[in-house]
Amino acid sequence: MPKPLGSPVLCPLGADDCPIRADSQRLREECARLRELSHTDPLTGLFNRRYMKMALEREMERTRRTGLPTSLIMIDLDHFKRINDTYGHEAGDDALKWTSGVWRKNLRRIDILCRYGGEEFAVILPGTRLHAAKRAAKRLQAALISSPVELQGRMVPLTASFGVDTYTTLEEITARNFLKRADRYLFEAKVNGRNQICCQQPESVKLTPEVTVDERSLLLGAAALPATEMNREKRASKKG
Ligand code: GH3
Ligand code: MG
Ligand code: MG
Repeated sequence: MPKPLGSPVLCPLGADDCPIRADSQRLREECARLRELSHTDPLTGLFNRRYMKMALEREMERTRRTGLPTSLIMIDLDHFKRINDTYGHEAGDDALKWTSGVWRKNLRRIDILCRYGGEEFAVILPGTRLHAAKRAAKRLQAALISSPVELQGRMVPLTASFGVDTYTTLEEITARNFLKRADRYLFEAKVNGRNQICCQQPESVKLTPEVTVDERSLLLGAAALPATEMNREKRASKKG
């Protein structure tokens, strides 16, 4: 029996035996379940690519509002085709589920771990600077190395390549381009030999300004006020 979600639906007329109330409650619960399904990867239970894109836009907006950076780790399992070729596709699925579990345990509750597609994953780290994101990637790399997956009675080692990037308020890039940039670092990690982390050079990370977008627009608004007042005065003196 599914748990009722949120507060119970009440009849606006206060009727205890309202025939529509139960239907409304059921529909509300069904909507919540469908929403969850549309955000979830069925194999691993992680967030899916659709949710990831939405969450990235949201976190970048939060960065613009609060001034706190957002980091992104793009991950691709190394030579995963070999796992399928050697142990079969089902065992490959088990390895993907295993990896998800290992990484889930090594992230904070606020981090957003997603299956981006196939054997690719993405982690959005809200309010996280580059050095902390690099540390998180190292933690994920080490956790995977020290947790071989058991496939057909054999302990099979897994590794992955990582691309890490950070978005700050001083940049004007879209979520799509931020993702592309992190993907380029991932590609670099592959080309450099796999099982490694590549990232933005610390010196190219623009420092987060002291003033956030909200504060800036308030300040600009305040600065614009005297000018407007001045214009009004000018217009008044012309008329006069
Ligand atoms: P690389 O280190 O360059 O990333 O090598 P790779 O073998 O991991 O990359 P490639 O793109 O050649 O192959 C990806 C493999 O991942 C092949 C594909 O069948 C497998 N794969 C993708 N999605 C799934 C899945 O849902 N289940 C299983 N079992 N395998 C999958
Ligand atoms: Mg791949
Ligand atoms: Mg791969």
